[in-house]
Amino acid sequence: MPEAAMIFKTLATLLFIDVSTSRVTRAIKAQYSLLLDRVGGIFGHITRFQGDVYLLLEIVMSDLRALELAYESFCAENLSLDMTRGKPSSSQLDLSDEMLNLPGKGKFKDADGVDCRNYGGVEGLSAMRGIFAEVMDVAAADVLVGGNSSLQLMYDTICRHLLFASPGASSPWGVGKVKFLCPVPGYDRHFSICEIFGIEMIPVPMNGEGPQMEVVERLVAEDAAIKGIWCVPKYSNPSGVTYTDDVVRALAIMKCAAPDFRIFWDNAYAVHMLDGAPASLLSIKSACEAAGNSERWIQFSSTSKITLAGGGVSALAASQANLKFLLKSINMQTIGPDKVNQLRHIQFFGDYSGVLAHMKKHAEILKPKFQIVDCVLNRELAGSELACWSKPEGGYFISLDTKPGMARAVVKLASDAGVKLTPAGATFPYGKDPQDSNIRIAPSMPVAKDLEKATEVLACCIKLAAARVRE
Ligand code: PMP
Repeated sequence: MPEAAMIFKTLATLLFIDVSTSRVTRAIKAQYSLLLDRVGGIFGHITRFQGDVYLLLEIVMSDLRALELAYESFCAENLSLDMTRGKPSSSQLDLSDEMLNLPGKGKFKDADGVDCRNYGGVEGLSAMRGIFAEVMDVAAADVLVGGNSSLQLMYDTICRHLLFASPGASSPWGVGKVKFLCPVPGYDRHFSICEIFGIEMIPVPMNGEGPQMEVVERLVAEDAAIKGIWCVPKYSNPSGVTYTDDVVRALAIMKCAAPDFRIFWDNAYAVHMLDGAPASLLSIKSACEAAGNSERWIQFSSTSKITLAGGGVSALAASQANLKFLLKSINMQTIGPDKVNQLRHIQFFGDYSGVLAHMKKHAEILKPKFQIVDCVLNRELAGSELACWSKPEGGYFISLDTKPGMARAVVKLASDAGVKLTPAGATFPYGKDPQDSNIRIAPSMPVAKDLEKATEVLACCIKLAAARVRE
């Protein structure tokens, strides 16, 4: 071995460093260039051997040290990236810009001649109900149009059940203990609604077909305090799973100890495909009716991630008996929803096919972002067994599972490096992931370049957290 290379090998051994990726090599080069220059000065022929040096460094550095260096180099970049919430990006919001000019001066009547500026029409404009009927696969008469947030409709619906006896019930839920089944990982805001009302949450694992039905069936059959289940049936938040027909049928037909059991069918991503047409989902209404449980379902949706997240339109669909029950208190609450916004949406879409055409434009923006995350994770982690992640066909999230016991550490590392992720545990009731492994990734907001960087940081943090545990 040439003398200089010998020296470098010794140096590298002393430094106890290893380099396994080009990024780390760059970090090492930056960190050790001074040292190498000095050594070069001493031994003269240094440049000739620099390639050998890096090679040698790569061979002898420990994984941990290399990862620490890579992580430090990310930290030094002073990043400020955010993958926390599934918000549409501004380029997605731009797709609906034209709506800001609608309905337009003097254009305040809908096709039925309703003056949308005035009070009234609590169920919503008929054309808006018609569009939501197709989104939710129900009849227009089943639809009640709300304000700008379906989450608010869910919150209020829980409230109404706690306070008033609903169809099938002899008393309001609130007179006794109330429990809800929560498929996990799930949507943190569903869990927050339960938490604020003191509703006990029972986690039920999700699998690739929906919630594990053997668990659901056993629990609802034996406990009359279980009054409901949260479901995000299409492109689930965060796993991306669409419930199979068998799961939908099983939910509709299962025997429930509570006669007033309700499925909260939060179809927030009904038309949010990344490619082609929206995934097919068996109609919860038809399944419940066929099972003789017509009052069991209440469905929710909104245009928050179709048009304007802060200025969209929400809707609820339910059986006629449930609608009557809900409207009794809604009519006390409001003299009517924002029909001008409904009119604007009707004019913007035309009809359901207009919604689908619009969603294709979203997909063109979103799909490459999902691909970036998947591509970087594959490049950095495939085959490592350090993490697995979903490859959704729609919705807003990628669900990533680290090895048990590492998610919190990974999220903290990422945050310290300037990459904000949804808090570990957020996808579980009470913020407690018993495995401490699930991390929800929201790729929609960052631009492509930032998303790539943020995912590289995430992958580095996953490797580093694992290496620290190993050492
Ligand atoms: N449900 C789910 C499953 C969601 O992911 C979201 C948004 N993140 C919402 C509801 C919120 O919907 P909205 O804006 O209509 O309140």
